[in-house]
Amino acid sequence: MGALNAESISKNFSTAEARLEVLVDISLRLAPGESLAILGPSGSGKSTLLAILGTLDRPTSGTMKIGDVDPFKLAEPLLAAFRNKQIGFVFQDHHLLPQCTVLENVLVPFLGSGSAGKLEIDEATQLIERVGLSQRLLHRPAQLSGGEKQRVAIARALVRKPVLVLADEPTGNLDGTTAAEVARLLLDLQLEQKSMLVVVTHSRPLAEQMQRRSSLENGRLVECV
Ligand code: ADP
Ligand code: MG
Repeated sequence: MGALNAESISKNFSTAEARLEVLVDISLRLAPGESLAILGPSGSGKSTLLAILGTLDRPTSGTMKIGDVDPFKLAEPLLAAFRNKQIGFVFQDHHLLPQCTVLENVLVPFLGSGSAGKLEIDEATQLIERVGLSQRLLHRPAQLSGGEKQRVAIARALVRKPVLVLADEPTGNLDGTTAAEVARLLLDLQLEQKSMLVVVTHSRPLAEQMQRRSSLENGRLVECV
């Protein structure tokens, strides 16, 4: 399984008024099984950095490798397939499909590479059981609590055993107790799968559960001691 190696990542946004330097010369290495919390005030570039690590956006300069692959050198269909298999996303809002059941939502990542067969359905069902929702397989998101929806989102992110899991304020909409449970689950599964985890969070308790912590300050990523 591959490591993450980002070198000298910078990102500028040019608007009519100004050129914003959001990320400046960021280098970041993660090994399989490692977890990193990224802290920093609103507007400091946390989501921008996650979007680049997740190959959803391209850096203005700098290079990145996930395992042996430089995703930004892949043509778009190959990049989409790579992202779909190797990267799992958890957002602050669950982003579940409202018309689909829990099981169907967790199967979504398999659809990019064809339809889901018995093997995929078995894997999804097992993971749904693992996140404590085996009695909710045919529920729809509107019939679930906030914590349950995030558990489904975690199962969807991890169902293909991605090498890299990215979470943007995954517990931001949950109460304290539920947030702690959801965070524990995400970390337990990440350790079981030996994937790499990067979590953007304002929550100190969540950040403390990660192996490493860094904060974004004036566009630079500073390791917290
Ligand atoms: P955070 O997630 O830390 O709150 P973001 O990464 O969302 O911060 O945004 C960082 C900065 O970049 C903000 O000032 C925001 O306005 C700016 N920004 C983000 N995306 C764009 C974009 N597509 N075009 C122009 N500016 C952007
Ligand atoms: Mg953000």
